[in-house]
Amino acid sequence: MTENLQKLAAANEALKGEIAKRIAAHAHADSIAKISEENPAPVMRASNEGLLLYANGAAAMLLETFSMVVGEGLPSDWCRGVIEASAKKTASEIEMVCGDSIFALTLQPVVDADYVNIYGRDITKHKEAEEQFVNYDDLTGLPNRALFQDRLKQVLGHARRSGKLAAVHLIDLDHFKDINETMGHDAGDILLQAIADRLLECIRTSDTVARLGGDEFGVIQVEPTDADGIAVLAQKLLNCFVEPFTIDNRDVHTSASIGITVFPDDAENPEQVLRNADMALYHGKGEGRGTYRFFVTQMNDDIQRRRTIEDDMRSGLERGEFVLHYQPKLHIGSNRITGMEALIRWQHPEQGFLSPAEFIPIAERSKLIVPIGEWVLREACAQNKAWTDAGQGPIKVAVNISAVQFRETNLTAVVKSALDETGLDPMQLELEITESLAMRNADATIELCGELGALGVSLSIDDFGTGYSSLSYLKNFPVQRIKIDKAFVDDILNDENPGVIATAVTTLGHSFGMEITAEGVETEDQLAFLRALGCDEIQGYYFSRPLPGPEFEEFLKNFEDTWALKLSQERRRLSGDRRLGPELATSSN
Ligand code: C2E
Ligand code: MG
Ligand code: MG
Repeated sequence: MTENLQKLAAANEALKGEIAKRIAAHAHADSIAKISEENPAPVMRASNEGLLLYANGAAAMLLETFSMVVGEGLPSDWCRGVIEASAKKTASEIEMVCGDSIFALTLQPVVDADYVNIYGRDITKHKEAEEQFVNYDDLTGLPNRALFQDRLKQVLGHARRSGKLAAVHLIDLDHFKDINETMGHDAGDILLQAIADRLLECIRTSDTVARLGGDEFGVIQVEPTDADGIAVLAQKLLNCFVEPFTIDNRDVHTSASIGITVFPDDAENPEQVLRNADMALYHGKGEGRGTYRFFVTQMNDDIQRRRTIEDDMRSGLERGEFVLHYQPKLHIGSNRITGMEALIRWQHPEQGFLSPAEFIPIAERSKLIVPIGEWVLREACAQNKAWTDAGQGPIKVAVNISAVQFRETNLTAVVKSALDETGLDPMQLELEITESLAMRNADATIELCGELGALGVSLSIDDFGTGYSSLSYLKNFPVQRIKIDKAFVDDILNDENPGVIATAVTTLGHSFGMEITAEGVETEDQLAFLRALGCDEIQGYYFSRPLPGPEFEEFLKNFEDTWALKLSQERRRLSGDRRLGPELATSSN
């Protein structure tokens, strides 16, 4: 009996323990089940066919927004997502806007189950950051090009529907590169931020100012009253640059140019709006910086012509349409022709002879100047070598080098290969670089002078006096020659103080051991002045225009008979006739 009682008590104890365990397990399961209920993020479950089976408390907002009820079907796009996820047995994600928030829903199929779990995440903040990154410029905080284009599309659409005007002002800083190069990129960044702040102050809240890239800003002006209203804003934008900017306790002066286009009149789509404004900007810059310029349709024709020339230039080079003309350079002391300048001409199949002023700037912009320049170098070297071999000379040929060639190619290597291929003595080659190029890239120029000097080639600074560089700065350049620009040779006759610049350049150049060439000498009086000044060399229509190769050869052969004698006899009055007909007429036969 006692034994039975004892067994019973033990069983009772065991049962109690079991019950306690079960109660604990049950409580645990309950609390686990509550996890999804207590989850602050939405959790739902849907059948594989898209019926909503369960939604936790945090999903209430979604249920309300999308009018969903547990036990009923999901909205159609969710439903599609759920059916697809369960069929493919892989999770997928959908996004939706719910009030002020954006949610991402992960549709997670469960293995061997007939339902899909749905986990929601509020991704509003993430989306905002992404938007900021995609649409705003990091440096200035202004809208970037993508957002600008988006706004432009909206404004253009609105302008078309309402018939009200809108305008785009494209702002490009003048010489920003110089600031970057001389003061460093950090200073450049500070300047751009300060400019952004000033521009923002000029516009109304309905307008948009954006940074479109590098040193380019854009403003969308909505509903200006008329063209005057647009001009007023343009001037206001330019005025932002009047006061200097303070960077590192230094006053930095800068200016900008603006191209403006008005729509809906001038443009059909955002791309065209920007193209037009860009054209206006480009034209404006060509005529002096620090101004604004409205787009006019005729600019289109110019651009069209430029494009045609660009295309023609590529084929022209292959078809041998370029030729070199040579203009003699007279050494005043010896009355001998000691050099010539090679000047390019283009025999265009439809437009006839084109001067370099018409196509070199286009070639520079499209970088076609690189292959063209290489051709010029080789051709000039080959021609000079041929003349030397034929017993003319030896004389030196000067070849013009563009800033683009200077920047884009290894000039020393190109020059060396032209010399090697043609066999010309390096002493018979001179390269002309313009003053502005030399000054802008002082270090690179000095380095290049050294390399070319090592090859035996000389360097001269062309168009001197037009780049406004300080004369004393000249001594930094190990160049052999300075060419005084024609404008200062003209001054010899016109100025109240005749030839002051020519005199200063000659005196100083000589003191640095450089030779001086005067360009564009057209009269005997100019020659007399330059001779008295001690100028070394002259070049100009007075003796000869640039001539096609065969005529130049004739000129050399006849020089002694026609000129040298007269010069050595110091005859001051020459028979006014030029004898050499207009260059273009002579060259076309
Ligand atoms: P530049 O190098 O200063 O060449 C002198 C220009 O002045 C030439 O014009 C020449 O014909 C002109 N000229 C010479 N003497 C007189 C004169 O007495 N009176 C007047 N009114 N003009 C005179 P061109 O041949 O039209 O060349 C213009 C510019 O085009 C050149 O100026 C040079 O900067 C550029 N250029 C010419 N050929 C080439 C080339 O092969 N490569 C590069 N990069 N540029 C070139
Ligand atoms: Mg030149
Ligand atoms: Mg020149």
